[in-house]
Amino acid sequence: MDETETSTRKSGHSILNCMANSSGVSAPRELILIGGGHTHVLLLRELGKNPLRTVRLTLVSDVKDAPYSGMLPGHISGIYSRAEMQIDLPRLCNFAGARFIHAKVLGLDLARKQVLLPDNVAPVAADLVSINVGGTPSMEDVAGAEPWAIPAKPVPELLRGWQRAVATAPGGMGPFHIVIVGGGAGGVELALAMHSQVGHKAAFTIIHGAPQLLPGHNSGVHRVMSRLLEKRGIATIMNARVVEVVADSVRLDDGRCLPADFTFWVTRIAPPAWLAESGLDTTPDGFVRTGPTLQAINYSWIFAAGDVVAIEGQKLPKSGVFAVRMAKPLENNLRAYLSGNSLRNYKPQRRSLSLIGTADGRAVASYGCLAGRSVLFWHWKTWIDRRFMRQFQNLPVPFSSIP
Ligand SMILES: Cc1cc2nc3c(=O)[nH]c(=O)nc-3n(C[C@H](O)[C@H](O)[C@H](O)COP(=O)(O)OP(=O)(O)OC[C@H]3O[C@@H](n4cnc5c(N)ncnc54)[C@H](O)[C@@H]3O)c2cc1C
Repeated sequence: MDETETSTRKSGHSILNCMANSSGVSAPRELILIGGGHTHVLLLRELGKNPLRTVRLTLVSDVKDAPYSGMLPGHISGIYSRAEMQIDLPRLCNFAGARFIHAKVLGLDLARKQVLLPDNVAPVAADLVSINVGGTPSMEDVAGAEPWAIPAKPVPELLRGWQRAVATAPGGMGPFHIVIVGGGAGGVELALAMHSQVGHKAAFTIIHGAPQLLPGHNSGVHRVMSRLLEKRGIATIMNARVVEVVADSVRLDDGRCLPADFTFWVTRIAPPAWLAESGLDTTPDGFVRTGPTLQAINYSWIFAAGDVVAIEGQKLPKSGVFAVRMAKPLENNLRAYLSGNSLRNYKPQRRSLSLIGTADGRAVASYGCLAGRSVLFWHWKTWIDRRFMRQFQNLPVPFSSIP
């Protein structure tokens, strides 16, 4: 994205204490947040309430409105408006006293300590960097996937594809096929949400590479969801991989060809390639390797959080719940780093509750070995999601603006 916008609140309460540079002129330390993911939006909100007094804060994001994934299927099934599921990043930055740069980060120059932006935008100098850029479903190895399939992320791309599908679906019960590749929680929830809107005029199929949908969830969840999909007439194909996508079909690894007017790609995510290309220590699949303090293994001034991170010795699910829970430890460790105190380890919860909407005013709850589906769980989910979003809609007046 080549558009660049910057905004800093005039009161600039994040630029208070400064370090003297070589010419004796005071300069603030530069903390650059890359990506407005779930961790950074919470971090910015906290920094708005309790500013860092030793830095100039900048967020670089390729979108101005950060989508909240918990509400995405609800938006597709017509429950939430787009505005309700998005966080206005320039506004949040204004509250946090941060500069907002609307641009896609292309890489890091680790030797010069710079964040690299597209050609017409000067690199941004950094003393401290935090990366929260998530990932996108991996499509690289599949012929025709990039031109023809619609990835679940970035979310704006998914929503554009979905709008096209809705507009194209024929009025009658024509031969119109929607294929969802990936039967994890995101893929199943998305399929149910889409089906609730166009299921009367489209045939749906979920293709999943493993023997069981919703890996990582218990057998009760598997049973409830399998029955529900069957009842709704959503076909499932297990143990199959898509090896080619074309305009109107997908080909599976066993040679079968399925009609597909629209193919949505909701598989395991891959992080952006620039992380490894910049010289950060990454896993073989490109996730940033960090220690339990969320600092990159090979650069202590670089922090990472959310889906993009691979914390040594931990195997965390790629989920918004964990990205959200990393916000407080990240904030504490950034403060500790800046003040020269010792950093503390992030300790993830052993179990987390998942509430998966079923697009009928109910949700499936999954916690450890417990499973259930009810209206109550849906109300609980909407209450949690709306409460999360309220934090960004009703931003309190920052203390520095109070006369
Ligand atoms: C359909 C679907 C439903 C889901 N539902 C749930 C759910 O109910 N609960 C749950 O816990 N998880 C859910 N997930 C998973 C959840 O979306 C992710 O785990 C979560 O979004 C990860 O958060 P994050 O903070 O790591 O990054 P993200 O939320 O992915 O945010 C990353 C941000 O960085 C920006 N960015 C990326 N690259 C750059 C760049 N180079 N320069 C600048 N900015 C950049 C992106 O535009 C984005 O705004 C769902 C996923 C899908 C696909």
